[in-house]
Amino acid sequence: MKRGLSLLIAAVIFIFPFSLSAAADQPVIRSGNPDSMKIALTFDDGPHPYKTDAVLDILARYGIRATFFVIGENVSYYPQPLKRAVALGHEIGNHTYHHARISEGCDAVTAEEIEKTEEIIFRTAGYRTRLFRPPEGAYDDCALEVVKNKNYRVILWTVDSRDWENKSAEAMVQTVMSNVRGGSILLFHDYMGKRSNTLEAIDVLIPRLIARGYRFVTVSELLEQS
Ligand SMILES: [Zn+2]
Repeated sequence: MKRGLSLLIAAVIFIFPFSLSAAADQPVIRSGNPDSMKIALTFDDGPHPYKTDAVLDILARYGIRATFFVIGENVSYYPQPLKRAVALGHEIGNHTYHHARISEGCDAVTAEEIEKTEEIIFRTAGYRTRLFRPPEGAYDDCALEVVKNKNYRVILWTVDSRDWENKSAEAMVQTVMSNVRGGSILLFHDYMGKRSNTLEAIDVLIPRLIARGYRFVTVSELLEQS
């Protein structure tokens, strides 16, 4: 009986994943509407002193916008790329001040990490965000509560390019092309090491995804009910 019930629940989740993920009280968002052709590129951990600009140049070449989950401390070191990203119409999200793990998030640290980042984004670029991505995608119920009380939406991802592993551009292209679907949130990093192939990968991926009929939007646009 119990097993039958859990199978039924699994079936419902499988058949109606979007209606669940679209629910207003959904604690964590991993994708948008699978029936649309909208997808969102996201870049974490920046701003970087020059790699963020390189990403922005590539996005500008294809006339598309993305969402950058920035680290507050990096904004304090490299404010210029953030200002440029905002001026170009990209979306900004909060990724804590020190890339702090909030998986043991019941103390004041989580709130402080979010607030300090919120402040520096606003002071630097006059921008307010309500999107939050926990570092490494790690969180616990308590941290989730803190984030929710601050009126943030928690955004994870659908497809991890695993660019942080210094994979080849070709391997990342393959990972994304074989896992992407409508409503996907794609995870990359604009703060990257010297051996990272992120720039090459997105330069190949963007035109291929456009050719497949996908439309690049920001995370907030991806989650709009249209
Ligand atoms: Zn991160």
